[in-house]
Amino acid sequence: MDEENVRKLYINGEWIKPVNGETMPVINPATGETIAEAAAATEKDTEKAIRAARTAFDQGSWRSASAHQRAALLMELAAKIEEHQEDLAQMETANNGKTLKEARGDVAEAVKTFRYYSGLATKPSGETFETEAPLVSRVVREPIGVCGQIIPWNYPLLMAAWKLAPALAAGNTCILKPSELTPLTAIRLFELIDETGFPKGVVNLINGTGPSAGHSLVTSPLVDKIAFTGGTVTGKRIMKEAVSNLKKVSLELGGKSPNIIFADADYESALDYAAFAIFNNSGQVCSAGSRLLVERSIYDRFVQDLTEAAQKIRVGNGADPASQMGPVISKQHMEKIEKYIAIGRQEGAKLACGGRRLLDQGRDRGYFIEPTIFIDVDPQATVAREEIFGPVLCVLPFETEEEALGLANDSPYGLAAGIFTSDSAKAERMAKSIRAGVTWINTYEQNLVEGPWGGYKESGLGRELGTYGFEEYTEVKQIINTLKVEPTGWFAD
Ligand code: NDP
Repeated sequence: MDEENVRKLYINGEWIKPVNGETMPVINPATGETIAEAAAATEKDTEKAIRAARTAFDQGSWRSASAHQRAALLMELAAKIEEHQEDLAQMETANNGKTLKEARGDVAEAVKTFRYYSGLATKPSGETFETEAPLVSRVVREPIGVCGQIIPWNYPLLMAAWKLAPALAAGNTCILKPSELTPLTAIRLFELIDETGFPKGVVNLINGTGPSAGHSLVTSPLVDKIAFTGGTVTGKRIMKEAVSNLKKVSLELGGKSPNIIFADADYESALDYAAFAIFNNSGQVCSAGSRLLVERSIYDRFVQDLTEAAQKIRVGNGADPASQMGPVISKQHMEKIEKYIAIGRQEGAKLACGGRRLLDQGRDRGYFIEPTIFIDVDPQATVAREEIFGPVLCVLPFETEEEALGLANDSPYGLAAGIFTSDSAKAERMAKSIRAGVTWINTYEQNLVEGPWGGYKESGLGRELGTYGFEEYTEVKQIINTLKVEPTGWFAD
């Protein structure tokens, strides 16, 4: 590819080539075509980015800039993203495969995220409390320092916003590493960051593979915090590796979230949300409602109606406005999903629909999988326990509220859960008893920038979004002052 068209790294306020000059192809998962070449950063490039971020933090101009200055830049960046929203959405669709409707929604959320944290930067934080005179104490929040931020391929632009906005608002300096599969919208975002005029070294971008560029961020003693979104296996590994200098670590990992439909639920909306919860974004969502628990008395009818709804979903290139579900991210990921479908069959789950790769209408060039529903699934089956991260749903019947709760909590994960019922007391009981970071009542997959997002158990550590997400990027400092300056007299007797 023409060198001019290679997407470079953004380090210390400049677009630069990686030290070894290597690039990686960027693939459109709907067509299998290479749509760009992105610089492939290695350890040496990551070290440069870390040094730039370290210097920018230690010099102190960013962390000690007034909150109003940081807020103004974030607000300006939000406006620029909004101005380019359609281009960004189309780029996301071309690189990730998601439908344009989904990509437009992501861009709008990214704008909201930068605006929200721009506002939060200037809001009061900290605490004072009563102490014995003459001491006075106050608690202030300070930025942590250099933050390495490693993001996945399922929401490339939105995850960049979730990471960068709170970190910058709090006065940290950042190095963002997008997934090697989906670097394009992050690169475009950094072009807008460059135009916005953030000080040199405050925000840096390295594209590269996880084991190379990502790993060196995690192990560097000059990095103070790692924020990671991705698979639980990688998350556990990162936590172990970050121990070298006791970095702060926040992890947003996988899930196998239960979506529970009681017989007294509003039938039409429960049905609609059941499909949305698993098939939106082609099922590649950490909080996907991938375990559907349905009360026995409506089970047969619900399964039949859901199967019909799934079979009607139009699967195709996300850039085609007629498509309702796009491809999965890569050939390798498609094969992983196909393997899970084969395991489900071997273990005796009944396939109500789907289960195959779609090969007609030119879809053989991309990575398309039919919306797939397994019914009557044994709660201990592999497909009911492991995160598949694709358009594959497991449906399990239940008889009583207690049984539903037991099934819901019988998982190593605890990211999210849905509860559909018209009995508000039952909904509250369930919402409080389910061990998950987010529980939705009569809705699903609503993410609010104002509220905390994150998981119990193996779904993660820490919270993103809202004031909780802001605090994850701060250290707590207590300042104790005395109003009476005098010697202690401790050794006077
Ligand atoms: P990973 O968790 O491996 O990747 C997420 C991010 O971590 C990417 O930027 C990746 O870089 C980076 N990374 C990978 N290895 C390391 C490492 N050793 N050190 C530092 N960074 C690293 O996801 P995969 O793409 O491999 O997907 C595997 C599974 O994870 C999926 O099947 C799904 O179950 C789950 N997943 C969950 C997500 C969620 O939102 N919770 C999102 C994505 C995946 P690179 O891509 O360049 O290798």
